[in-house]
Amino acid sequence: MLGTGLIKGLGVTAKNFVGSFHDPTRLVTVEYPEQKTKLPENYRNFPFLVFDEEQDPLGTLRCVACRICEAECPPQCIYIVMERDDKGKAMKRPKVFDIDISVCMSCQICVEVCPFDAIKMDQQYEIAEADRFQALLLNREALAKSNQYYHQIHPTEAAGVDALLAEQKAKQAASRAAAAAAKSAAVPKPAAAATPPSAPVAQPPAAPSAEAPKNPPATA
Ligand code: SF4
Ligand code: SF4
Repeated sequence: MLGTGLIKGLGVTAKNFVGSFHDPTRLVTVEYPEQKTKLPENYRNFPFLVFDEEQDPLGTLRCVACRICEAECPPQCIYIVMERDDKGKAMKRPKVFDIDISVCMSCQICVEVCPFDAIKMDQQYEIAEADRFQALLLNREALAKSNQYYHQIHPTEAAGVDALLAEQKAKQAASRAAAAAAKSAAVPKPAAAATPPSAPVAQPPAAPSAEAPKNPPATA
C-alpha cells in the first residue's frame, strides 16, 4: 500500500521519542556546542605532524623533510623546506612545513605515502576563521601534535604504528650490532711479540768424579 514505509518510519520515530524519556541513548540529537558526540575513530579531516617528546615538539618531529607527501598531494597544498646547517648539509627535518587547509581535500594520501609515520589525520573540526587565506595556512608549529594526542584520537591505529616503529628500531639496533661485530672481527690483530731465540743454557762443568781413575799414570 502506498505510504506504508512512511508510516513505519514515523512509528520508529515516535517509539524513540517516547523511549528517550527513559533511555537517553535513544536520543539521536545533542545540543551542540554545549554537548558533543564522540567521533568515530576513523573520522578524519586535516593532517597534523606527529612529535615524540612534549619537552621538544619541533626537535622531535618524526618528519625528515623527504618531501614525498608534498609530491603526492593531489591539490599540491603542502609546502616543505628542508633545514640545513651552516655548511649546507641537510639536517633531515623541516625548516618550513605548511599545509593550506583551505585547499586540502582530506584524501589522506600524504599519510599513506609517508615512510616515517610522521603525518596523520586530525579530528579537529572547529576551525572556522574569518580570514579564509592566511588563517587557514597552517605552519609547522600549528601542525605539530604529540604522539599522545594521536593515541587519544586514533587509539587502535596509533598502537599499531608504535608496535611497528618499535620493531623497526629493534631490527636497526640488531643490524648495527652485527655490523659492529663484523667490523671488529675484520680488524687485524697486532702480531704477537717475537720471542727472542732462547739463549743457550750453559751447562755446568761436570763434577769431578769421586771415583779414582781406572788407569792411573804409571809411576817411575
Ligand atoms: S611528512 Fe613524511 S612524507 Fe612528508 S616530508 Fe615528512 S617524512 Fe616525508
Ligand atoms: S589530505 Fe590529501 S589533500 Fe590534504 S594535504 Fe594530505 S594529500 Fe594533500
